[in-house]
Amino acid sequence: MARDPRYDILFEPVRIGPVTTRNRFYQVPHCNGMGYRDPTALATMRAVKAEGGWGVVCTEQVEIHPTGDIAPFIELRNWDEQDVPMLARIADAVHAHGALAGLQLAHNGMNAPNLYSREIPFGPVDLPVFSIYNDPVQARAMDKADFRDLRRWHRDAALRAKRAGYDIVYVYAGKLFGGAMFFLSRRYNTRTDEYGGNLENRARLLKELIEDTKDAVGDTCGVACRISVDELIGEEGLHAAEARDIIAHLAELPDLWDLTLSSWDNDSQTSRFAEEGFQEPFVTGIKALTTKPVVGVGRFTSPDLMVRQIRSGVLDLIGAARPSIADPFLPKKVEEGRLEDIRECIGCNICVSGDHTMTPIRCTQNPSMGEEWRRGWHPERIRAAASPQRVLVVGAGPAGLEAAMMLGRRGYEVALAEKTRTLGGRVARERLLPGLSAWGRVADYRTGQLAGMSHVEVYRESDLTAEDILDFGFEHVVLATGSRWRADGIGRRLLRPVPCEAGAVVLTPDDVMDGVRPAGRTVAIYDDDHYYMGGVLAELLVREGFAVTLLTPAADVSNWMHMTMEQHRVQARLLELGVRILAHHGLTAIGRGGVEAACVFTDRRTAIEAGAVVLVTARLPATALAAELGARRDAWAEAGLRSATTIGDALAPGTIAAAVFAGRRYAEELDEVRDESALPFRREVAGLVAGPMPWPGG
Ligand code: ADP
Ligand code: SF4
Repeated sequence: MARDPRYDILFEPVRIGPVTTRNRFYQVPHCNGMGYRDPTALATMRAVKAEGGWGVVCTEQVEIHPTGDIAPFIELRNWDEQDVPMLARIADAVHAHGALAGLQLAHNGMNAPNLYSREIPFGPVDLPVFSIYNDPVQARAMDKADFRDLRRWHRDAALRAKRAGYDIVYVYAGKLFGGAMFFLSRRYNTRTDEYGGNLENRARLLKELIEDTKDAVGDTCGVACRISVDELIGEEGLHAAEARDIIAHLAELPDLWDLTLSSWDNDSQTSRFAEEGFQEPFVTGIKALTTKPVVGVGRFTSPDLMVRQIRSGVLDLIGAARPSIADPFLPKKVEEGRLEDIRECIGCNICVSGDHTMTPIRCTQNPSMGEEWRRGWHPERIRAAASPQRVLVVGAGPAGLEAAMMLGRRGYEVALAEKTRTLGGRVARERLLPGLSAWGRVADYRTGQLAGMSHVEVYRESDLTAEDILDFGFEHVVLATGSRWRADGIGRRLLRPVPCEAGAVVLTPDDVMDGVRPAGRTVAIYDDDHYYMGGVLAELLVREGFAVTLLTPAADVSNWMHMTMEQHRVQARLLELGVRILAHHGLTAIGRGGVEAACVFTDRRTAIEAGAVVLVTARLPATALAAELGARRDAWAEAGLRSATTIGDALAPGTIAAAVFAGRRYAEELDEVRDESALPFRREVAGLVAGPMPWPGG
């Protein structure tokens, strides 16, 4: 299919200094949890984006020197010549598919605890580092020699980036990770020399770094400046008006302006807290300050919104991190007029958790993300079935839907049976909870794809038994029957059922999602799960008028959501809605009129008045069908059944991302001939250096 002419503007080339991008789709720098540990996997992931049509594909922030070391995070390094081959591998992989390669140089300044290098961090002033773990490390104020050193390191790193083949080289002053932002900030920069005070002085370092980079590599490389346009903390922070003054001051200096909100949690807000395109008010008008192209983000998945932002003069280039993660082929799909095939980002930030846990990036919508090289998975392609076989998938949750879709793409004849009328499993239910409607895209995308596959039959309202499965006469059955929340309090903290008085009202999240509500107006929620469910149910019930107390053994609500950068927003929202939060408390007893909680440190008891309690602790896999089928093993051969495999939450309850991954994995591995002793994926092991140990014979 040809592309809709409405979208032609998205495919216009744009000049970025001495280089030209083929279109306006611009993958802005983003972290990935692979970094210098998994360079070939990282290069392959970036190459797939280039193959998918992005005009520019950037690295994550790349450290330029050991004095700006953000260990334990494993972002790429460009410290010296040893790093060039690794950087070149990425640039080459991107070039192989016709995209420009961008590299984001970063010296993290006061954000760098230097735990690996043990160098003393530096910044505008003497202050503790602004690092994620509140490390007991203090930065020192830079002196004249430090400025000279920093500028030299930055220049050398730019030259190495050019030698590695990059087309665009960044100077980074965004999100407080780019050390130059600490200088721009009035909060941090209280210097009285030529690098502090008025705006011109605070912008001096950034100006020098841009000039140095232009001078070093500007003949062949576009020089981009990534800058924060607001910290969202009011007048005290770098705010919109001031950011505009800085951009106006440096307007024509870089070849491209890349606009972000600071810090990262503001830039990459989730769908629970921000709509697609939410950055528009912050970036509108900036193009009027410069003739250079401007790129901005906003979780863009709708080409109409992209076109509108370009036509109305908000942006020149459509920046994307998450939409390019969820669908590396988004530009190609727009180009080929296949909008219904776009796998839209759901805005859950599971991708961010990869970086925060220093493990390869993963994505709820795109299970191949991070697995392109490790497992050889491609977001759009999958090998054809080795032989024609028939597969029955039981359960149309994220795991079953993904398995059915990918088995269908492989060419198997597939039947997908779902107990209920609605496809989507847990997603069909959870999408109705406050703030989670975009998560429904997990089901919508797959349901839409299945509709176009003639060899995949979908059976709704089909609650299958083992007998039904044997009657189907299929060779393989996938049991993706999901899980149910426990009702006994057992979870991380409680390993035995919580004592419960007869007549007490105990609900699970499944009950609440089924519409069950307690008779009284007071509810306690015990959250020992720590992801979204406890906080979301608190929000739901308080909005319905219940007086809600949320107790949790953790230090704060939805504690794991630090990994998705949402925890502070969840807590703020619940506090604003009037939810009482009792942190550091476990549940010790449930009574008819309330629950008893105990401080996790002192065991001091607190009574909480509540007409009902909702237990958000752990889930039980739905294994009954698998057990029933196992008990009929003697009948398998006659029925033609060769394998029965339990996947997703039915095997071990986890994230939606894990369930989708499980579905993909089943589809990938069916009929695969494997060496039993081989690891399930490839890895890259660091080469050993040649030469003697420091103390031969010691
Ligand atoms: P996952 O996250 O692993 O995909 P879900 O709980 O989201 O798991 O989905 C499981 C789906 O399986 C639900 O939609 C449920 O209705 C369905 N299901 C469970 N048991 C059966 C069964 N015996 N026959 C058909 N569908 C079933
Ligand atoms: Fe979007 Fe979630 Fe995928 Fe991240 S993990 S790209 S937020 S769908």
